[in-house]
Amino acid sequence: MSPLRTALADAWTDLLLGSACVGCGEPGRPLCRACRGALPEQANPAWPTPTPPGLVTPWAAGEYRDLLRSMLLAHKEKQVVALGRPLGALLACSVSAAVADLDPAHPVLLVPVPSRPAVIRARGYDPITRMTRLATRRLRGQRRVAHVVPLLRSRPGVADQAGLRARERGQNLAGSMACASSGLRRLPVSTGYVVVCDDVLTTGATAREAQRALEASGVQVHAVAVVAATRRRHPPENTSRAISENQV
Ligand SMILES: [Zn+2]
Repeated sequence: MSPLRTALADAWTDLLLGSACVGCGEPGRPLCRACRGALPEQANPAWPTPTPPGLVTPWAAGEYRDLLRSMLLAHKEKQVVALGRPLGALLACSVSAAVADLDPAHPVLLVPVPSRPAVIRARGYDPITRMTRLATRRLRGQRRVAHVVPLLRSRPGVADQAGLRARERGQNLAGSMACASSGLRRLPVSTGYVVVCDDVLTTGATAREAQRALEASGVQVHAVAVVAATRRRHPPENTSRAISENQV
C-alpha cells in the first residue's frame, strides 16, 4: 500500500473506531486541547551520558517521558498519523533553538535519520522523514528558510537497537549509514546549516553515526534536533532497554 493510502487508512480507522487523547485518555482527538497546551515551547541541549566523542550539540524539546513518550510511541507503533503535526512542531522547536544564534539568511537543512528499509516497508511510510517534513513546514511558517534533505541511507545488516547496551549500539551502528552523494550536488549544503533530525535521543549513537556519514561526504553538521531525549540514570545501560532508538 502506498504511504498516502496507509496514512488515509489509519485516519479512517481512527474515525470509525473512535480515538482518545494519548495524554489523558479523553475521547476525541489523539491530542486534546489541554494536553496540546501543555506541550513544551522551548528546547534545550540534551547531552547523553556518556556522550559519544565528537557529537555536535543535541537539542530536545523535552524529556522522553509522560506525554512526549506517549505521543512518540503512538506515532511510531500505532501509526496515529494525526500526531505528526504536533510532533513536527516540537521538532521545529528543537531546530529553532539549535540555529537561534545563526544568520537567518542562510537556509536550515534538516536531514532525517533514516529508518531501516524493512521498517519503512512494514509501516508503509517513514515516520521520521514525515515528522521532519512537518517540522520544515512549521519553520517556514516562522519565516525561516528550511528544507528537508533526506541525504542519509541505511546500509543493510543493521540489527534492531532495542535491547542493546550503549556500547553495543555504537558498534551495531558504526558504518551503518551512507550519504547519497547524488543529493549533495543539488543542495545548498555549503551555505546552509545542517541539522540531523530524529524523534528520540537515547545514547546518541544513532545521531553520531548520522553525523559521521555526513561528515565523511564533506557535509558539516551543525547540530542534532530531536523531539525528546532520555535522561540517563545509573547504570546507563539499564535505562535504554525499553526504547528502540530510531527503530520505528
Ligand atoms: Zn489530553
